[in-house]
Amino acid sequence: MKNKVKEDKLLRLTKSHIWIRTTVFICLFVLTLVISVFFALGLLLFQTETDLGQEIDHAKVIAKLYENNSNESEPYGILENSGLDLIVLDESNSIIYQKGRDTRGNVKEYFYSGIIVSGFDNNDNNENDGKIPDDSVLIWNDEENGIIKPSDGGTIMIEYSDYLKALTKSLKEDHSGDNEDTDFKMISMPVWARIELSNGQSIICKCVVEQKLSNIIYMILLMTVLAVMILIMLIMLIVDAVRNILIRRKMLKVLFTDIATGGYNMIRFMVKGRQILRKRKLARKCFAVIRLEFVNYRRFCVCHGVAEGEDVLRAIYARLKMNVSRNELVSHSADGRFALMLCFDDGQQLTERIDSMIEGIQNIKADHTFAYHAGICLIDADKGSILSRPRKGVDLSDVYNNACTACATLEDLGETATCVFSGNIIEDQKWIDTVEERQRTALANEEFEVYYQPKYDPSTNELKGAEALIRWQSPEFGLITPYKFIPIFEKNGFITEIDHYMISHVARDQKMWLDQGYRCVPVSVNVSRAHFIESDLAEQIRDLVDKEGAPHHLVEIELTESAFFDDKKAMINTITRLKEYGFAVSMDDFGSGYSSLNSLKDMPLDVLKLDAEFFRGEEAETDRGEIVVKEAIKLAKSLNMRTVAEGVEIKEQVDFLASQGCDMIQGYYFAKPMPRAQYEERMKNPIKADT
Ligand code: C2E
Ligand code: CA
Ligand code: CA
Repeated sequence: MKNKVKEDKLLRLTKSHIWIRTTVFICLFVLTLVISVFFALGLLLFQTETDLGQEIDHAKVIAKLYENNSNESEPYGILENSGLDLIVLDESNSIIYQKGRDTRGNVKEYFYSGIIVSGFDNNDNNENDGKIPDDSVLIWNDEENGIIKPSDGGTIMIEYSDYLKALTKSLKEDHSGDNEDTDFKMISMPVWARIELSNGQSIICKCVVEQKLSNIIYMILLMTVLAVMILIMLIMLIVDAVRNILIRRKMLKVLFTDIATGGYNMIRFMVKGRQILRKRKLARKCFAVIRLEFVNYRRFCVCHGVAEGEDVLRAIYARLKMNVSRNELVSHSADGRFALMLCFDDGQQLTERIDSMIEGIQNIKADHTFAYHAGICLIDADKGSILSRPRKGVDLSDVYNNACTACATLEDLGETATCVFSGNIIEDQKWIDTVEERQRTALANEEFEVYYQPKYDPSTNELKGAEALIRWQSPEFGLITPYKFIPIFEKNGFITEIDHYMISHVARDQKMWLDQGYRCVPVSVNVSRAHFIESDLAEQIRDLVDKEGAPHHLVEIELTESAFFDDKKAMINTITRLKEYGFAVSMDDFGSGYSSLNSLKDMPLDVLKLDAEFFRGEEAETDRGEIVVKEAIKLAKSLNMRTVAEGVEIKEQVDFLASQGCDMIQGYYFAKPMPRAQYEERMKNPIKADT
């Protein structure tokens, strides 16, 4: 689930939403433009409406006057003089009077209230009010006398016909009032208003709304400036958005690109891989995830430089890429570790393909042959047989982790090798986890037990020594053999504590047996190779033995053959000091690995332990096998070393070894490793009866 969330986040990152941003910006732009246009038009309309209101008011006044005068002999005189274009309709909507043209043309006119009628009732419902109401205050703009105002707020009485004339004249003058001073062009807009009269008639009157052309030009200019500003803003925003997207793309490229090879990195591998695995059309295909490791890449870099190392990685990447198809992947994670995802139908073909891919990169650099470790984890593999079924619930991280785990099992190998992840590996990993979890408590609880495997002289059948071998008496898992935990301790370093534990316990036992009057023989203890890097190892051993009070000659130190390839000088130094302190030192597993004859030359060793391999299998019984053992014993003798033959199980081997002068035999023929109590019995009866 967590992986899904992570993956979705990454996928979202990979998609550039340039079109979303741009659309949002364009929408914003259009919206702002529309709002601005509406705002400007609103302003224009507001002003127009105010003007229209005045025109309509004027028309209403005329309509009222006409209505009041409609019974007179010349009812249309008012309309005639009104200066308005209008038609009068009777109750049946037939035209009974018409005046003026449809339009008034572009006349420069201004309307000013030359006559201010306060309290004039132009309400349509006011039926009988044909005259100026009594409470009206009339400000009379007399031609001769100028403005006449009622001095005391009273009423100025004038003739009604004069009022009408004055009103019309005033209106006309007002309309043309500014004409002389201005040359503004006007744009007229006729609006037809219908005024219903109480007598059933109605007047349709043309009210003209006028706007200065300059006003409209200003408005258009204002809107254009606004639009340009918004456009500039929009362009800036788009430029910024594009820049952001480009920066993000670059960042994404960095995020998804491997620095060394310039190809896919692991993030890209995971994201892409999951996409591929989810593809419907590939649901029935099998996939293999491979961890391919360039063995000793670091060492190559030390010898040739990192730049050359990265050149090689680039070449490897390019070669691998050439070998993968569209629905397959290759990526480089770090330090010469590659990840591949290959599609396949047949397991055998897959193995051959991987082998040939590795072959192709083994000699990627002239004069070099590189080794590779490949850990393979199959998707849709079930108990070794590959099933074609949809990969629901497959987590690529887990699969890759399995491939890495399989690859890690090869880490001790120097040459090219492949390992397919299996149930056994899971078990092994679980076991390692369990051991590591419990190791400290086990040591503290003394769950580790010392077993003793006696060493006998083959010519006399007499007990001559023993080897201390560890056993883990686990309350949870029962008795566990060292093969199941010593390699784990050797890897995680816990082995040094185990070695100390064993030396202390052997010394304690020896001291106790001595005190109890046993005829003690030297007991050898295995000291791990990892321990030998400690420069004061000899002193540590001495102190441990001394602490328990055991004599040094009763404790022997076994060093495994492979340890002799480490720092030779330090090794010689430690052996020399151990010998000085009175401890015998033996070379364990002689002949099991690479030849350590050279080490024999330099190391002042006391005992040579011939590896059990010499006495195992059919080759052991051949003449050649016997010759090797014979010569090894001879060699040891001429170097003043005693010999111990390990893993001897049959009488013929014992007889042969006795005839060759082998000093001791440690093998099942004489005794298996045994608990302390049993070993005590052996000490009590040191001569082993023939079996
Ligand atoms: P090793 O030191 O070579 O010990 C000899 C192993 O050979 C022992 O296995 C022993 O039981 C086995 N063996 C002896 N004679 C015969 C025989 O006739 N036939 C067969 N098939 N096997 C025989 P063990 O006790 O299981 O120990 C395995 C390895 O674990 C040891 O090999 C040693 O490398 C390591 N080990 C055991 N105890 C310790 C310890 O206390 N410290 C360290 N560092 N390693 C230990
Ligand atoms: Ca040993
Ligand atoms: Ca051995």
